[in-house]
Amino acid sequence: MNSNTNDQKHAVPQRSVTKRVKGVATSDGAGVSLTRIIGQPMLPRLDPFLMLDFFGSDKPDEYLSGFPSHPHRGFQTVTYMLAGKMRHKDSVGNEGVIEAGGIQWMNAGKGIIHEEMPEQEEGLLQGFQLWVNLPSHEKMSPPSYQDIQPSDVPVVNSHGATVKVLAGEFDGVAGPVKTTAVAPSFFDVHLTPTEDEPSVLSINIKGIQEGFIYVYEGALTVNPESAASENTLSATELGVLSPTSTENSQLTLLAKGECKCIVVFGEPINEPIVQYGPFVMNTQQEIMEAFEAYKNGKLTL
Ligand code: MN
Repeated sequence: MNSNTNDQKHAVPQRSVTKRVKGVATSDGAGVSLTRIIGQPMLPRLDPFLMLDFFGSDKPDEYLSGFPSHPHRGFQTVTYMLAGKMRHKDSVGNEGVIEAGGIQWMNAGKGIIHEEMPEQEEGLLQGFQLWVNLPSHEKMSPPSYQDIQPSDVPVVNSHGATVKVLAGEFDGVAGPVKTTAVAPSFFDVHLTPTEDEPSVLSINIKGIQEGFIYVYEGALTVNPESAASENTLSATELGVLSPTSTENSQLTLLAKGECKCIVVFGEPINEPIVQYGPFVMNTQQEIMEAFEAYKNGKLTL
C-alpha cells in the first residue's frame, strides 16, 4: 500500500494522543480528596479548559466536608456525577441536587457564591468537575445554571459502544446542555466489546477543537492504526488530542475489554489568562477588581 491510497482511505484526518497525563492526588474545598488532572504542573491548562478534577471515594471522611460557600468569576463550572449525589446552593437562591448520571453546567459569569455538598453520609461519591473558560466578552455575563437530570441525557448505541451525549452532538443527536459563548462537547463513552470483536467507536469532530479523553475504567487505544505508544490509555490516564488544522477530523477509539471514558473537546479561546483561585480573568487589574468586589460583598451584584 502506498501513501496515496492510504490518504484516500483516510479522507478525514485521525486525531491521536500527543501527551499522556496522570492526575495528582490533592484535596480541595474543606478537605475533599480528589485527583487533579488538568490544572497541575504536567498539564496546567488545555484551552478552553482550565481544570479537570476526578473525585471518587466510598470513605465518608474523604468527601463529607464538601465544598462550603466559595466564589467564582469569569468561567463555567461543570459537575458530572457518576455515583452518589451532590447538593448545590447559591447566593441568588438556586438550589438542587445533581444525581448520578446528571450534569450541572454553571455559568459563573460576573460572579456567583455557592456551596457544593455531598447529599449522602455513606457510600460511593464519584464524578468530575471541569472548568471551562469564557472569552473576555462573556466573563461578566449574568450567572446561570443548567441542571440536567440523568433521564434527559440521550444515549446513542453505536457498534458495541454507548455514548451519553451530555453536551455537543454525536451522530446527529444533540446533548441537553445549551451553551452560547463556548460550546464544548462532553460525552461519557462506554465501550463494550464481545469476546470475538473489539469495540470501535468513531467520533466526528467539526472545527478546530482541542480536547482530551480521560479513561476512568479499563483501557483503550486511540487511532488504532497508528503504532505510537502514546495512543494507548489506561484507567486514570488523560490523553491530550493532537491538534488539527482541518475543518473535519475524526477520533477513533478501540477497546478489547470493557472501558469507560469521557471525551471532551472545544474551541480554544486564545486569550491571555490571569487566574487567582476561583477567579479567572484576562488581566491582573480584573483579578484585583474581582477580589475587591468579593471583599465588599459586591461580586454578584
Ligand atoms: Mn464551585
